Amino acid sequence: MFVHHLIYQGMADAIAFRGVNNVTYAQLQEEVAKYRTYFYQIGIRSGDNIGLFSRNSVEYVCSYMAIASLGAVVVPFNFQLTCREIAYIVKDACMKHIVTAEPLNIAEELHRYGYRQEVRQSLISDIKQQISQIGEMTPSFDNRLQEDQPCVIIYTSGTTGNPKGAVLSHKNLVANAGGLQKVLDISAQDNVLCVLPMYHCFAWTCAVLNPLLCGASITVLEAFAPKEALAAIKDYGVTVMYGVPPIYNLLTRVGTPEDLQGIRLLVSGGASLPENVARQFRQKYGKTVTEGYGLSEASPVVTLNPAGKTKFCSIGKALPGLEVRVVNSKGETLPPGEVGELIVKGHTVMQGYFNLPLETSLALRDGWLYTGDLAYQDTEDYLFIVDRLKDMIISNGENIYPREIEELLHSYPGIIEAAVVGQADELRGQAVCAYIVMAPDQAFDKKALKAYLQGNLAAYKMPRDFVAVDALPKNQTGKILKRVLRDQFTKDANDA
Ligand code: AMP
Repeated sequence: MFVHHLIYQGMADAIAFRGVNNVTYAQLQEEVAKYRTYFYQIGIRSGDNIGLFSRNSVEYVCSYMAIASLGAVVVPFNFQLTCREIAYIVKDACMKHIVTAEPLNIAEELHRYGYRQEVRQSLISDIKQQISQIGEMTPSFDNRLQEDQPCVIIYTSGTTGNPKGAVLSHKNLVANAGGLQKVLDISAQDNVLCVLPMYHCFAWTCAVLNPLLCGASITVLEAFAPKEALAAIKDYGVTVMYGVPPIYNLLTRVGTPEDLQGIRLLVSGGASLPENVARQFRQKYGKTVTEGYGLSEASPVVTLNPAGKTKFCSIGKALPGLEVRVVNSKGETLPPGEVGELIVKGHTVMQGYFNLPLETSLALRDGWLYTGDLAYQDTEDYLFIVDRLKDMIISNGENIYPREIEELLHSYPGIIEAAVVGQADELRGQAVCAYIVMAPDQAFDKKALKAYLQGNLAAYKMPRDFVAVDALPKNQTGKILKRVLRDQFTKDANDA
């Protein structure tokens, strides 16, 4: 099966996209066929890598499906990227064509990178106008495609190092959308909120592909703003929502239980959901947020808490069809309770990183994807993420997991966000540095906070520095950019 075949074939007049102008499945199929014809006419062919730059919209979905149905490969851009970062991806993915919501001035940057290839841009508004002249069409798709053919190259968020392009096949994505279905049971009665950016695999697989596979409706929002999101949830009758932890954190401070009355399923992923946020959310709305875990390289969902059997702080169990193990540095499976690297095997695991054989061989060994995340499993097969391998701090030879300290900081009254990073330290190798964001009406009292931590934390884990900031640097999917914090600290120390 191919990604574009996921568009529900059951009831043509069912609503695919809810909103001011509802779009039915039949209309969606016809639109995709028109986009496809247009893209073919302008020379897009199987195997071409095509950039896609746009905020969430129905046009985004049509463009994606049409490109994929031609056998070309979609390369979605994070729309927050600067021209320099976009040019890096254009060059890395050897791109000749970009479908974009706005003109991108990247010629100079491309030149600087030595990329001489001509890169054409098609504006989505122009495409819409052109296809309005194409008459009624019967959707027909090229079945000569292979399931193992690349469908998308996802440039991973780059919270560490240069972005790498994870190549996902049609089979990878379809397997993930189908695996989710076995756990979540989304139906034609559901209306899924797509508020996370579609360029990210979490939104694309969970809030677009899976509902399209099940005949559910999707309510698309361009970005998350608490009041607008709550209004849309009510107005359009949303029943399922996918969010990242900062969204649930914000929702604990606005809204009323009535706002989310119609919602039956709330899923959090992309970063760890602090226990305190999960508890506050449940207190306020009387609903449990189901935590899941994934990464772009696995299309992306790997684990999810089973419905009605959520364990706080756990990322749940492996999706059906996926194998997971927790291993030591020799690749040996560890017993329950022991912390090691989480590895994954199955149909959703990427083919590799685009044009990066060395990185691919490090990430994929014997068919297992090494996630770079530290985890442990309990005796009931529930998994718990401890931290990212790369974020672990080693101080005086002791392993320190920032997440543990972050959880504690979150439980301290007045702190609304926290991030802990390691800083170079001559004596200890690395020292712990805590960044915190206080609620607007709360003053930061370092002495009182230190006293609280001393009662709850072994001395070797105690932060050497505390920095109160107005906001933490985050990417669009809510991941805190620890690299930015580390660089900022080093810069401040050098400037001092
Ligand atoms: P991305 O490829 O951008 O989706 O980022 C994947 C990374 O996000 C994973 O390798 C984890 O480090 C992190 N992540 C995703 N979900 C969770 C979660 N529930 N808890 C902790 N970390 C998570």
